[in-house]
Amino acid sequence: MINEMMKKDIKKLLRPNIAALTPYSTARDEFQGSAEVYLDANESAYDNGFNRYPDPRQKVLKKAIAQAENIKEECLFLGNGSDEAIDVLLRVFCNPGVDNVVSISPSYGMYEVATATNDVELRKVRLREDFSLDAEALLAAVDEKTKIVFLCSPNNPSGNLLNEEDILRIAQAMDGIVVVDEAYIHYSDHPGFADRIESQNNIVVLRTLSKARAMAGLRVGMAIADPEIVEVMSMVKYPYNLSQATINEALRHLDTPSLTRTKEEISTTIKERARMAESLPELACVKKVYPSDANFLLVKVDNADALYDYLASKGIIVRNRNRVPGCEGTLRITIGRPEENDRVLEEIRNYAGEVLND
Ligand code: PMP
Repeated sequence: MINEMMKKDIKKLLRPNIAALTPYSTARDEFQGSAEVYLDANESAYDNGFNRYPDPRQKVLKKAIAQAENIKEECLFLGNGSDEAIDVLLRVFCNPGVDNVVSISPSYGMYEVATATNDVELRKVRLREDFSLDAEALLAAVDEKTKIVFLCSPNNPSGNLLNEEDILRIAQAMDGIVVVDEAYIHYSDHPGFADRIESQNNIVVLRTLSKARAMAGLRVGMAIADPEIVEVMSMVKYPYNLSQATINEALRHLDTPSLTRTKEEISTTIKERARMAESLPELACVKKVYPSDANFLLVKVDNADALYDYLASKGIIVRNRNRVPGCEGTLRITIGRPEENDRVLEEIRNYAGEVLND
């Protein structure tokens, strides 16, 4: 009964033009089965491995990803990176020039770009100074035109997980969609929100093969959501949004040896994160290292621009977050391989030495 009460009316949330949409029907959508002669899609008949269109429903890849993420296939939408899922969600739910979206700040920059390109107002609610979520402040920014709330946990660029109870409270309190972007979840010890979508159908979880699964170059991301939401998102995406080459390669990198290898890489990254978090504060120019559940550290330093330039001059590129409100004086440093992390420490030590001797 409680579950029923928490169910939101997804149909009511859709843009009217999307609710009325007849999706493009591909040749392969219309014919389900196997044939010997395919003359339905105006493809070249001459086989070179890529002469046929890929499966628009991405059945085989979905099966492999569903297994890796321990979720149901019908709850899975696949996109050209999770960036595509962000854009498709906006196009499905938000009337341009009318509806609004609420996000936390600081957070992932794409929420801003994607809302701006879709002509949707973005209301940014500042996290507290320690980057924890202020659920009351966030809900105060929500009104009847708020179709989506973007939360990011672990958050980019701060690195911290958001409080689980706060996320659930927001999802229960509002009628719109609550997106929990879990791009970095595999580096945390939190199970994530994928198993909450059944009881709380307005939660949409975003994950990606770009981070811990080590496939950023392939461009595969996902939304994990109630099948009703997945169905509408699939209607709106380009029919062949994942190429056959992408599907083949992603499958190859999701086999058992690859999954075992990435598991080891994740555990090395977590150990290295702890080592960096311990070592960095010992360096003279480092003021603070924020706690992280992701594969990067947000580091407050004496002069972020100067240290950024110094590291760049030594061939080490980090992310300068000095101009991001709430992140003044910080650099975001990805955790690399152990020898790369050693180099970062060594160069920051050299920099601190040079500054002290100035
Ligand atoms: N969400 C967050 C929080 C990210 O940091 C990123 C990439 N930096 C993405 C989503 C997008 O990832 P992709 O499109 O590669 O799946």
